Amino acid sequence: MTTQTGRTALVDELIAIAGPGAVLTDAADMEPYAVDWRRMFFGTPLCVVRPAATQEVADIVRACARHGAAVVPQGGNTGLAGGATPDGSGGEVVLSLQRMACIRALDPVGMTMEVEAGAILQTVREAALEQGRMFPTGIGAEGSATIGGIVSTNAGGVNVLRYGMTRALVLGLEVVLADGTVVNGLRRLRKDNAGYDWKQLFIGSEGTLGIVTAAVLRLVPAPQHSVTAFIAVPDIDAALAFYSLAQSRIGDTLSAFELISAASVGLQEKHFGLKSPASGGQWFILLEGASSLAGIGEAVESLLAEAFESGLAVDGVAAASQQQARALWEIRERITEAEGREGRSVKHDISVPVTAIPAFLADAGKALEDLSPALRLNVFGHLGDGNLHYNVMMAGPGDDGAAINRTVHDAVLRHGGSISAEHGLGQYRVGEWLRTKTPAEQALSAALKQTLDPAGLLNPGKVLPRRDRG
Ligand SMILES: Cc1cc2nc3c(=O)[nH]c(=O)nc-3n(C[C@H](O)[C@H](O)[C@H](O)COP(=O)(O)OP(=O)(O)OC[C@H]3O[C@@H](n4cnc5c(N)ncnc54)[C@H](O)[C@@H]3O)c2cc1C
Repeated sequence: MTTQTGRTALVDELIAIAGPGAVLTDAADMEPYAVDWRRMFFGTPLCVVRPAATQEVADIVRACARHGAAVVPQGGNTGLAGGATPDGSGGEVVLSLQRMACIRALDPVGMTMEVEAGAILQTVREAALEQGRMFPTGIGAEGSATIGGIVSTNAGGVNVLRYGMTRALVLGLEVVLADGTVVNGLRRLRKDNAGYDWKQLFIGSEGTLGIVTAAVLRLVPAPQHSVTAFIAVPDIDAALAFYSLAQSRIGDTLSAFELISAASVGLQEKHFGLKSPASGGQWFILLEGASSLAGIGEAVESLLAEAFESGLAVDGVAAASQQQARALWEIRERITEAEGREGRSVKHDISVPVTAIPAFLADAGKALEDLSPALRLNVFGHLGDGNLHYNVMMAGPGDDGAAINRTVHDAVLRHGGSISAEHGLGQYRVGEWLRTKTPAEQALSAALKQTLDPAGLLNPGKVLPRRDRG
């Protein structure tokens, strides 16, 4: 769609489908939908359309397809890879699911919940908790992120260790395909081997294969008792040995095992005056055990005693109240903010096999030192998932962000890892994906895209390189 007349005709059609109040065309009104959360990507949409029902989504997608206009699905716009930001052509339509926010059903006995794509993650989690159930995907952006967004990015977070990524928590899906077909797979089944599990194709595909309009989520019993502890460990090998010990002693209740570097803790002290509750180690562990049964407190205490005795831990505290637990979690949650105050950084969201973490850290650290000795690191992450936020603080304007990126990702590959553990590729990592994935994997991905979106109109340039639509 290139002509002005064509663009005006499409906007008129979208207004006819969704109503005049649901289509934004004014630049100021569209601005919040045109920029990503980190303000790294800026777009110029033709319009923003905010449907209220699945059938409207289908009609919008069909109208866009008729006009050859690309559709960029968007939820809470908290993604960290530029996946929900349109390009600068002025021709792409942002499809915001925010108005489709209904919780359709909650079954506390079957432990399932059916929700529309625009439902806010926090609202969903609170609704489940009211019934003594929990939806485990927990991320820092839960007050804005939507169910459609977390499904489409296969979001992770701090509880993956115990409950898995979002992919493991979706039982059924309703999607709108590129030609406007509605596929209703909103089944509440824990067992369903009747053919291909096609919903998995859409989970984590970042809006490039279809639009998620609703999902059936798997709930778990809400733990009644939890313990949070903050522990200093002498080095990264001790951190791993401590993790293994924790799995042996309290593994079935271990819901978080977060790794925090001394540098990350130092940044918080510098910028927020937050004093670390433990000292004397190169690394810190934020550990959480949670259970429906009482006794988790004693189990964690005995784990810590064993870790101190064997020298795996050198200092630490266990929270005595919910308030103290919150304060310990705050240390983890404010790292990114402290890093922002320190200056410019190149962020990486990588994963390697858990046991490869020490070797990866040594290798990547050495490679970066060879590149530029003045670079500093801010490393933290989900140790139990092998997922590190390996952020490199720029020393000055001469530092080459792309070279830093390549250096870190090359080390990741040497240790059998992934360049994106949980944030996805969006438009931010497409180049590195092309550089680092095998030709056979790239060809398979392109074939899937060609099958489900032959005209290339669903979120072009995200996950896969933008292709010439002719
Ligand atoms: C402070 C903060 C903390 C975060 N912590 C984590 C974390 O711990 N773990 C983690 O994994 N992520 C984390 N994120 C990233 C982000 O919150 C997640 O990626 C989240 O899943 C995005 O949800 P959203 O609704 O905002 O999606 P958006 O940002 O709107 O979109 C993200 C992608 O999904 C697509 N999309 C959105 N809705 C749909 C739909 N209905 N159908 C099809 N495609 C769709 C978009 O096109 C885009 O490609 C964090 C972000 C912030 C800002």
